[in-house]
Amino acid sequence: MNFTIDADLRKRLAGIRELGRTQIRPLGIEADRAGKPVDPDHPFYALLLKLGLGRTRWLPTDDSALGRTAGRQHESGDSLGSRAGASLTGVLLSEELAYWDRGVAVSFPGPGLGEPPVLSMGTHEQKERFLARFREPDRPRWGSFAMTEPGAGSDVAAIRTSCKRDGDDWILDGEKSFAANASRADWIIVWATADASQGRGGHRAFVVEQGTPGLGDFKIEKKMGLKAYESTSFTLRSCRVPASNLLGGDERYAKRAGFKGAMESFNATRPMIGAMAVGIGRAALDEAAAFAREHDLGGDARVRDRLERTRRKLRVARLLCWRAAWLADQQQPNMIEASMAKAQAPTAALEAALLGMEVLGEVGARGDHLIEKLFRDVKAMDIVEGTGQIQRIVIGRQLLGLPRS
Ligand SMILES: Cc1cc2nc3c(=O)[nH]c(=O)nc-3n(C[C@H](O)[C@H](O)[C@H](O)COP(=O)(O)OP(=O)(O)OC[C@H]3O[C@@H](n4cnc5c(N)ncnc54)[C@H](O)[C@@H]3O)c2cc1C
Repeated sequence: MNFTIDADLRKRLAGIRELGRTQIRPLGIEADRAGKPVDPDHPFYALLLKLGLGRTRWLPTDDSALGRTAGRQHESGDSLGSRAGASLTGVLLSEELAYWDRGVAVSFPGPGLGEPPVLSMGTHEQKERFLARFREPDRPRWGSFAMTEPGAGSDVAAIRTSCKRDGDDWILDGEKSFAANASRADWIIVWATADASQGRGGHRAFVVEQGTPGLGDFKIEKKMGLKAYESTSFTLRSCRVPASNLLGGDERYAKRAGFKGAMESFNATRPMIGAMAVGIGRAALDEAAAFAREHDLGGDARVRDRLERTRRKLRVARLLCWRAAWLADQQQPNMIEASMAKAQAPTAALEAALLGMEVLGEVGARGDHLIEKLFRDVKAMDIVEGTGQIQRIVIGRQLLGLPRS
């Protein structure tokens, strides 16, 4: 494995550090206190575009499947530049962004979680139609990904949003929940089922464009943390979507390929989510260590021991994220490593936030210290992109040679 960070990447990490200190963290705290997402017209997003962020990494000449470009995109929509080592670059930048504020990082403009399925399943024409606008965006633009429904989270086979063919269109009906940036998105990748009795075999992915009649009822969900970005529910009511917006076209869906597309997408994004958890955990550990230094708690071996243990667990988690991303960059299968990274990192980060709350004691409990916000922010990292339990099921089944459930 080679985890070399070259001079260019060091420079970009330093740039994020500066942006994080001066803009990202203050904006995250402001959104948290206001209890609402950063407005899509906020000048911060225009600044990000000027800095070259909020873009797609898809090049019109690059039609490789996601397996070969896995991880080039993450929720932050950050631009990662060069193709070589893009997944590893992605996890490094993800961690640094989340260190400053994970909610703000996810609110960054860009195709976001919607990009991996377009890359892995979309035709060249669809990539051109839906990603080209993110190459040199004229204004902040977002993409979104909607799998979850009020009755279907971990068990994606349970989705009930239906799709029925009608001439040159498909008619979509159903409800989606918790989709990041959905109400501000140019388009949303909506997962629906053509035949619920087929479970995942019936899945289809559509690009539903904003303004399509029948797409509506956007409602920003209430969240305990990560308030800077919107997690949004919406409905599809007799929503007519052109057949040309079915990702990959009809032929793509033979042999459960819809489900395969979703899984490829998760293998690309899980290491990023893990890295973001490490970022939040690192921030919490820094708060705990700073407080221990300022209040002479370093003499207490129990405090030192817990700080050390937490730091070590975060390092282990980080290495798992790096390895999963490195495998993606080598165009090697990374499903188990991606699940391991996603299973480990949020647990380590949660431990760091809990440690911070305990070390800070009543200062943390008052509710106006960063540690308390990190404590609320971190929990979702174990939930999104497949919960910790689901990752452990994936790893356990593979270990025992059982088929994927
Ligand atoms: C902040 C946030 C952002 C999100 N962003 C998006 C997004 O952009 N797009 C999107 O589509 N979704 C998004 N989600 C939804 C997320 O993917 C789901 O919440 C997640 O898949 C879990 O589903 P659920 O909440 O319905 O929990 P459930 O699936 O109902 O699970 C409840 C509990 O049971 C456990 N459990 C479930 N099945 C098993 C099992 N077989 N064995 C053992 N334990 C099990 C779970 O681990 C969990 O602890 C987001 C959620 C959050 C909180």
